[in-house]
Amino acid sequence: MADKKTVRDIEVSGKRVLVRVDFNVPFKPGTDEISNANRIVASLPTIRYLLGRGASVVLCSHLGRPRGRSIPELSLRPIRGRLAQYLDMRISFSESTNFRRIQEDVSRITPGEVILLENMRFHPGEETNAPEFSKELSDLAEFYVNDAFGASHRAHASIQGITGFLPSVAGLLLEEEIRSLEKVLLDPLRPFVAVLGGAKVSDKINVVNNLSLTADKILIGGGMAATFLNSTGIFVGSSTVEEKFLEKAKKLLNNSPNTNVEIVLPVDVVVSAEFDSQSPYRTCPVSEIGEREMLLDIGPQTRDIYAKVLSDSSTVLWNGPMGVFEWDHYSEGTRLIANSIARDGIVSVIGGGSTVDAVSKFGLEARMTHISTGGGASLEFMEGKDLPGIVSLLDADESYEKGVSG
Ligand code: ADP
Ligand code: MG
Repeated sequence: MADKKTVRDIEVSGKRVLVRVDFNVPFKPGTDEISNANRIVASLPTIRYLLGRGASVVLCSHLGRPRGRSIPELSLRPIRGRLAQYLDMRISFSESTNFRRIQEDVSRITPGEVILLENMRFHPGEETNAPEFSKELSDLAEFYVNDAFGASHRAHASIQGITGFLPSVAGLLLEEEIRSLEKVLLDPLRPFVAVLGGAKVSDKINVVNNLSLTADKILIGGGMAATFLNSTGIFVGSSTVEEKFLEKAKKLLNNSPNTNVEIVLPVDVVVSAEFDSQSPYRTCPVSEIGEREMLLDIGPQTRDIYAKVLSDSSTVLWNGPMGVFEWDHYSEGTRLIANSIARDGIVSVIGGGSTVDAVSKFGLEARMTHISTGGGASLEFMEGKDLPGIVSLLDADESYEKGVSG
């Protein structure tokens, strides 16, 4: 991805700046109490930067999946309070989905002030990327800033459509996400090891594929290890094998000498006959998985092998837990990875919703170099895809007017 203009490249004093943030945060079920505000915290540097330079800040985000209708439970109103607390200032809120009203609300704020708009996905034009909706949005400001990395894989109006109507640049969070992920993918300090796990091989096979081009080693774990193991002829009991991907998995394993990557599979696993937290379980070599057993974590011997590889590495990209880490019996593999990479002198980049949850469960967030705020977006980035919300921003050497049609 080419270098993009950022908030640092625009003159915002006295200007209205529309900032797309990712306030799609989790709530305690049935309440309007935010259970994890990381994404709000991550947006603060850009907001503070713009306020400090005399801009009026208009914030927009989506929350959940209202599918083009106003759903009170998915209002962004509860976020306003948290934001006001963090920024220690009053935040206006525009609760309307009518653009004349929104215009009026926005016109009332002055430089140094912030207004938060209601859920973008209450508007039918958001997810369909309707040009009329993008145009209406663009009339609210003089610049557009994308700081919503977690939504940048969506070609939606407030992410992509709007960039056709306003000079559009990256926010500080987006810039940091791109820089960290790109550094690892394009110019990693070696040895560079990728650790890939998670539930489904279908979700991750393209990531394995893309990383096999640059990584020195790839350590495989999680549910998807079953398909990889099975592709080498190993019987994996009642573990889920995604038949459609056996051929691809086998090819990746066999091609690995050509692409200079070594793809490492578990040699032992923790198995159980039931997918639940309390049933009996045991450890066995991968060659001895019983007919009724499924693999739920990597085993102790595998953990030793993976720990050794990681202790020799300089850069680690980690996506996907090694086992069902939510349950104690199957959390050791994931804990081992988290502990092994949480050390000085290692560049550690974490992507994927559950992987981030695991790192925070083990209390190791502060020990990692970069924790991505985007699940799906970071996955697509690691697959080597261009994200619509990033490619559509102005290139570093492009002038403001270029590509802006209205
Ligand atoms: P991420 O969100 O980090 O990208 P995924 O969504 O791919 O990760 O997978 C996370 C889920 O995979 C977790 O809920 C975890 O319990 C599950 N998982 C990991 N290993 C296994 C396994 N061996 N069998 C079944 N589920 C697994
Ligand atoms: Mg996930």
